[in-house]
Amino acid sequence: MMENELETLPISRSEFLRLEIFKNVSFESLAGYLLGCKTVEVEPGTLLIDPEHPKRRLLVLLDGIMEVKMEAKGGSFRDTIGPGHCAGEMSIFDSIKPSAYVYAKDKCRILVIEPEMALAMINASHDLCLNFLHMLSQRLRNNSRVVCEEEYHIRCIEENAKVDALTGLHNRRWLEDMYTREINRSNAGNFRLSAFMMDIDHFKTVNDTYGHLAGDQVLIAVSKAITNCLRPSDMPVRYGGEEFSVFLPGTSTENARVIAERLRQSVERMKVELPDGQSIPVTISIGFTERQDGDTVRSIIERADQALYNAKQNGRNRACLNLGEGGMLLL
Ligand code: GH3
Ligand code: MG
Ligand code: MG
Repeated sequence: MMENELETLPISRSEFLRLEIFKNVSFESLAGYLLGCKTVEVEPGTLLIDPEHPKRRLLVLLDGIMEVKMEAKGGSFRDTIGPGHCAGEMSIFDSIKPSAYVYAKDKCRILVIEPEMALAMINASHDLCLNFLHMLSQRLRNNSRVVCEEEYHIRCIEENAKVDALTGLHNRRWLEDMYTREINRSNAGNFRLSAFMMDIDHFKTVNDTYGHLAGDQVLIAVSKAITNCLRPSDMPVRYGGEEFSVFLPGTSTENARVIAERLRQSVERMKVELPDGQSIPVTISIGFTERQDGDTVRSIIERADQALYNAKQNGRNRACLNLGEGGMLLL
């Protein structure tokens, strides 16, 4: 290449050597191709890659910063591209609409390479080809990471939607899934399973006497007392306002009787103190039953609920066992 031709190149030798995309590439091998490229200077905010108006060209950033956004103007920020790095590299290989918007963050100077020229340069330099592959694999890894992070966030959101914010117990949405699975599993394997329904006694009076916030503290305390009485495999749920349900896999009626009494006593004995040191008396009523052949979530909960109603009718702060055909047994 003649000296005067070198002067007309869009970028100098020293600038070329500083660019990541041309790492290990000999300037001489590509100088002829660079003659067919141009540099442009753009103002901050210029839209350089627009999915609505795709252009096939490789942009090598010489100076400034470019910003990648998922939506047009004001959309969420995704990434930045610094000097020596590229944008639009996919457009060299296909005509698919780009997936993001690229803006100039500050004043940018950019080397613009048309796709035919870029392909010719890749053909001419094995090292440039490797740099391209390196860049594309980095993009791929970056995208996979973003997808994994998004999936994780979606899972967290789904999980949170199944947890009651006040007590931290699972809610009805979780119950629908998990109780159905558990009853199907127990029916199929003929495993024992007990179900509890519990309701705080005179909770309306607690709210009316001590206030709604104190009522909330009672709900939290009762939830803790319940979980403290259970095994990790048991499935407590805040069923509704001041009602709780539990599925106890592998638990017979005999064991359930012991647990029911333990639950009742532990709530009766717990202390929910007001700021003035006053203690709120709290009790619960409990209805429980054991799984029978052909039970559904609805049928077993209905039986436990009838027993709960019976416990309420018979004075509250007590447990009642629904034996199905065998009737009710008040404890
Ligand atoms: P019983 O012994 O027959 O169960 O009487 P009860 O007063 O507990 O029953 P009732 O169903 O009349 O009252 C339930 C109350 O629970 C009414 C409602 O305002 C209250 N409640 C429901 N959810 C919440 C909550 O998240 N926080 C508070 N503080 N109160 C709640
Ligand atoms: Mg109730
Ligand atoms: Mg109640």
